[in-house]
Amino acid sequence: MTELPTLTSDSSYDFEMKAVFDEIEKISKTKNGRVVVGLQFPEGLKKHALGIASLIEEKTSAEVYISADPCFGACDLDMRLIEKSDILFHFGHAELKQGAIENKVKFIETRSKADVSKAIAAAVPLLPEQTIGILTTVQHVHQLEAARKILEDAGKTVIISNGDSRIAYPGQILGCNFSAAHSDDSENCDAFLYIGSGQFHPIGAAISSKKRVVCADPFTADVFELNYRKFLMQRSAVIGNAADAETFCIIVSTKNGQYRKTLADSIQNKAKAHGKDAFILFMDFVSPDQMLSFKADAFVNTACPRLAIDDSGRYPAPVLTPQEFEIVLGEREWEDLVMDEILEGGQD
Ligand code: SF4
Repeated sequence: MTELPTLTSDSSYDFEMKAVFDEIEKISKTKNGRVVVGLQFPEGLKKHALGIASLIEEKTSAEVYISADPCFGACDLDMRLIEKSDILFHFGHAELKQGAIENKVKFIETRSKADVSKAIAAAVPLLPEQTIGILTTVQHVHQLEAARKILEDAGKTVIISNGDSRIAYPGQILGCNFSAAHSDDSENCDAFLYIGSGQFHPIGAAISSKKRVVCADPFTADVFELNYRKFLMQRSAVIGNAADAETFCIIVSTKNGQYRKTLADSIQNKAKAHGKDAFILFMDFVSPDQMLSFKADAFVNTACPRLAIDDSGRYPAPVLTPQEFEIVLGEREWEDLVMDEILEGGQD
């Protein structure tokens, strides 16, 4: 018999199982009959789904369903599973404050247990500037005060800025929202320290703030100054490949936190005003394979901004952000290229 993975097999994250059991217990008191629980995980945490489901079944009398569809953010709640459940536990992300649809959702942020202090201390020599802003993902927000202390002990002034209303914690950034890096407070920062792994978030912070970003990876203690020149060259190539496009397909995702139909309409209108053909494609999950049937010269993405970037080489035609599309049309200068963000009020 296959052994179910246990939570201790990956002790680097906190799955807050006590809070999960307590919530189920609370709901069961208000309900006659069994509590129906939905579980949703991002791709990297799905390996824990069976272990968590079996723990819930063992400790409570709840009936458990697991969402198996791809999930990359809190923007992507499994609406069907929410309908069928008394509560959905959504792991790995902070709430996006999307209103009533989150009433039946409990966000388990799955914070990292990695100690950030070694990486921060290693980053200090790379930060000669006086006033440093700190940015991170939700997995490390609980360690921002420890990071602040290390920088202050090194004589720095530290700013941990609030983002807009889509952002749950000061200093937190998303792949589609760097508002904590370009808020009024952040204007006073001379440079940023980004705590986390991967380069997408710090690239977004650097381009949107136009400030230097030093990255500190708490998992490896690697520190380095972010260089986004290669990224800009890749995006320039994509824009160049779309320069002669006559037919555009505009991607709209129906996912709750990615839906930007008004933006898609305005892109379509702009394209038509320039004598181009432009069609709006509605879909839930956006993937390169789904685009094969649509013989567009270029796509414009209004869904998750990461889609145009992360998988750009896998699409059958160039995939532009809305801002890159404006450059193709000649309505925006190259030097005004910014990252696409879904900011407060940016959804329909
Ligand atoms: S839109 Fe993309 S970057 Fe933003 S929360 Fe969703 S998955 Fe993350």
